[in-house]
Parts: sequence; structure tokens; C-alpha cells
Amino acid sequence: MAPIQMVDLKTQYSRIKDQVDRAVLEVLESAAFINGKPVQDFCQSMSDYLGVKHVIPCANGTDALQIAMMALDFQPGDEVITPSFTYIATTEVVALLKLKPVFAEVDPHTFCIDPESIRKCITPRTKAIVPVHLYGQSAPMEEIMKIAAEYNLYVIEDNAQAIGADYTFSDGTTRKTGTIGHIGATSFFPSKNLGCYGDGGAIFTHDDALADKMRKIANHGQSVRYYHDLVGCNSRLDTVQAAVLNIKLAHLNTYIKARQAAASYYNKVFSGCANIQTPVIAPYSTHVFHQYTLILNGVDRDGLNKYLSEHQIPSMIYYPVPAHRQKMFESFRSEQQELPVTDWLSARVISLPMHTELTEEQLEYISGRVLNFIEN
Ligand SMILES: *Cc1c(COP(=O)(O)O)cnc(C)c1O
Repeated sequence: MAPIQMVDLKTQYSRIKDQVDRAVLEVLESAAFINGKPVQDFCQSMSDYLGVKHVIPCANGTDALQIAMMALDFQPGDEVITPSFTYIATTEVVALLKLKPVFAEVDPHTFCIDPESIRKCITPRTKAIVPVHLYGQSAPMEEIMKIAAEYNLYVIEDNAQAIGADYTFSDGTTRKTGTIGHIGATSFFPSKNLGCYGDGGAIFTHDDALADKMRKIANHGQSVRYYHDLVGCNSRLDTVQAAVLNIKLAHLNTYIKARQAAASYYNKVFSGCANIQTPVIAPYSTHVFHQYTLILNGVDRDGLNKYLSEHQIPSMIYYPVPAHRQKMFESFRSEQQELPVTDWLSARVISLPMHTELTEEQLEYISGRVLNFIEN
């Protein structure tokens, strides 16, 4: 049996090596390292895949969120509602822009932001909601868009973990996550569901004016070279990464199916175990399983992690410290509401190996060891 990894990018690469090598070599030979043709090609393909009008490439997922927030003319002290149970980038950019992150509670089954909690966080200074489609599961976007319309708020979807997921509205229409809010942001970090071989990111919107502005912001505030209309930043998706993404985007649906198949295998094996809550798939969306995350009940999590590691099985805690308990947000703490679900989840979640190359033999071995620990 091949060694088990959280993410096996090497085997995945070996299956597309000829295509990727050729595409990367073409970039090297063209020497168009910045804004070469593969960048435009990728944005077009990504826009077709998602059904969104504008795809704006940028340097990483954190920049994508930052550029989105810079484009919305928020004033210092304006409030942005985000979950606390997320990767730090979501909340960090809010503070970086001198805005105030207000942490909402998550749903204990889907791990995504809870609309009831969003309502409780709204004040006259609230400007935006940033739902995170955590682990590959969409947040309840229909309800979130309703709240946003009611209070005139922007919605920026953090789609870094859920690219390719489908959201179905109550009228039966379906949209890709990241294209439902006013702006969607994603990351092409290597381990994401659509990852390049370095850093990369993109921003999505249907809005022409916002798209223009975000393109400008990502390019030092200019649309005509050396004429800078507003303060921006320097954030580009380089041509080599775009060339890799062009190849990988064509495989994204196959990759998603492989993740879903691995998740189904785990689910079946764990279904009878009272101490394990397997991932709940929300009725309104598909789950693209960026992570396969269990909730443990009455199980020694550190013990399980150690036992698995002794059996050459990696496991991870995403995330052990929620944003509202991070030192960087210490100054906000006294004003924040209690987040018992977030705290409860942070103490109980564990993520098992999840990627496109897991074999049945590996899945059987991993799930067998997990059950062994829990049932003994
Ligand atoms: C990975 C990730 C980001 C940031 O992406 P980078 O490309 O690493 O900057 C933001 N939000 C979430 C939820 C992520 O998982």
C-alpha cells in the first residue's frame, strides 16, 4: 500500500504530467511570464465553468478577499460579519483594512455560518456578510441573500474550499458557489480542490462596474499604464500557474467525484458508530469534500490523532483555535458574543486524509484504524 497523505499531489501530478509539462514548457519558451495568453484562457474557461460573467485573476485567496473588500468603499470601523470557525484569512483581511470583524455562530451540522446568528450580529454599521463554504459544503446562501437584501448588505462568498459545488435554490434553479453573492473569492493554493503549483487566486462577479474596479485595484489602481486612479495593490496570477490551472480545470469534475466517492466510503464504514458524527450534506447543495471532517463525541481526540499517526495515517484539526479566540483579535474579545457551537466544534472536529488519489485499500485501512481506536 502506498504511504497515506492528507493530500497526494504527487500521484495526481503523475497522471497529468505530460499535459502539464508541455503547458509549462510553452510558457517558459514564450517568456510571457506575466499576463500571458494562458491567464486569459483560464479566466474564460473558469467563467464558462462557473457561469459567472467576470473572473479576475489574482495572487492568492487572501488577496481575492482583500481586493473584494477594497472595492466596496467601506469606511474604517464598518462591520463585516464572518464566521469565527474558518481559516484565518477570511477574518484577517477585515482587520487589515481597518474594518471590524463581527463573528457569527455556525451550524453544528454543516459547519457553515448560521443565518439566525447573522441577524443577531447586524448593527447600523454592518456593511457585509462573508459566508465561508467550509470543507466544501455551501453556506445557506438563499437565506443569506435574503438577509442581505433586507439590510442592504454586500455578500462576499469565501469559496476557497468549495469550488465546483452546486447550490440549488427553492425555485429549483442551480448556481455554482462563489457566483451567488455580489462577489466570490477563491484560492488556487496547491491543496485546494482546484490547486495550482504555487500560489494563485481569483475573484468572481456578475457586476461590470465592480469587476472593472477590482481589476484596477489588483493592478495598482490603474487601467491605463502609469495612470493610477485609486490606491490598489499588486496581485497577479502568473502565467505558469494559469497554464497548470488550464489543465487541472478540465479534470475538476472528475476530481470532485473522486473526493465524493472517498467520502461515501468513509460514511458507510462510520455510519454505525455512535461516537462519530459523519459530515452532513445540506439539502440545498452538493458537497465537494475539500476536507472530510468528523465530529467526535466522547472520544479522546489527541489520543486518536496520536494512534493514527503511529499507524502512518495523518489527520488534522481544522481549526483548533477559532478566530474569536486568536491573539490577533484580543482587542475585540470583550465586545464579541459567546460562540458555544464554534467552541464545541473546535474541540471535537478531526479531518481524515481526503484527496483525489485515495485507493479502496487505503480507505479501508484508515477507517479500520479509526474504528479500532474508538471501539477499544
Ligand atoms: C485557503 C483559504 C483562504 C486563503 O487562500 P490563500 O490562497 O492561502 O491566500 C481563504 N479562506 C479559506 C476558507 C481558505 O481555505
